[in-house]
Amino acid sequence: MSKPAGRLAGKTAIITGGARAMGGATSQLFADEGAEVVIADVLADEGAALAASIGSTAMFQKLDVSNEDNWQAVGDAAMSRFGKVDILVNNAGILIFKSILDTTLEEYERVLRVNLVGCFLGMRTIAPHMIAAGKGAIVNISSIDGMKGANSLAAYASSKWGVRGISKVAALEFGHKGIRVNSVHPGGINTPMGNPGGVPIEEVNKLYTQVPMQRVGHPEEVARASLFLASDDASYINGAELIVDGGWQAGHYYLGYPGAPGV
Ligand code: NAD
Repeated sequence: MSKPAGRLAGKTAIITGGARAMGGATSQLFADEGAEVVIADVLADEGAALAASIGSTAMFQKLDVSNEDNWQAVGDAAMSRFGKVDILVNNAGILIFKSILDTTLEEYERVLRVNLVGCFLGMRTIAPHMIAAGKGAIVNISSIDGMKGANSLAAYASSKWGVRGISKVAALEFGHKGIRVNSVHPGGINTPMGNPGGVPIEEVNKLYTQVPMQRVGHPEEVARASLFLASDDASYINGAELIVDGGWQAGHYYLGYPGAPGV
């Protein structure tokens, strides 16, 4: 019996920051679901290794998302190898923990440049290929920190609010050209960014008392949300925000009162 067609069969996807962690899980899942994938990242060794392990339906292309010329090269490489681009996942991101008073202008601009300018350049460079085809889906990875404030996230929260905002603009500008644009808002996810010390999962989970599900999230759980938004299952979803945070953003607990964990 032949394998059933995947949810992305016949589609080509570019995934930024696609070499590891959340982006790596997305590259793998999209490939498993039948897509041709362009893994675009600054991490050449990891990206090339992942593409090789997926096989002939994957390629690696070096990309610094903050570099305009790199973006042009990614678009050209995807078109020359696969002939089209149906999906773009703007996932690459960086994080620094610093208060407003301690953040230098250089640090602030660096985070904005990668997280927000990278997303802008990606859409500006790749959307024309989708517009020419009259169809496409863009998934921009924001954060729950793009929906509220948090101490020490002066630059990061600014960038992720920006990603949420430009996703709405893109949904309006591209929607009538057949392209859907949605944002994904992960909570705490067990990746080098979310768990930089590589702390054992049982210990990490103990920090998640304010999260209804009482645990950290996994990269595959975010990848599955991006898969849904990128697939035709989301054919009428445009300009939406999909929160993937175990309920963290839903509110907060009055610990010790009825309905709280352990009461
Ligand atoms: P990560 O640091 O583990 O991986 C980020 C990836 O982006 C890496 O492969 C890295 O090489 C790549 N990257 C960084 N700068 C780049 C650049 N200039 N050009 C191209 N690639 C670049 O982080 P992650 O946790 O997998 O995060 C993925 C996305 O999810 C990010 O946008 C992040 O802000 C967002 N996010 C993460 C969490 C979390 O808790 N981990 C929560 C909310 C949102």
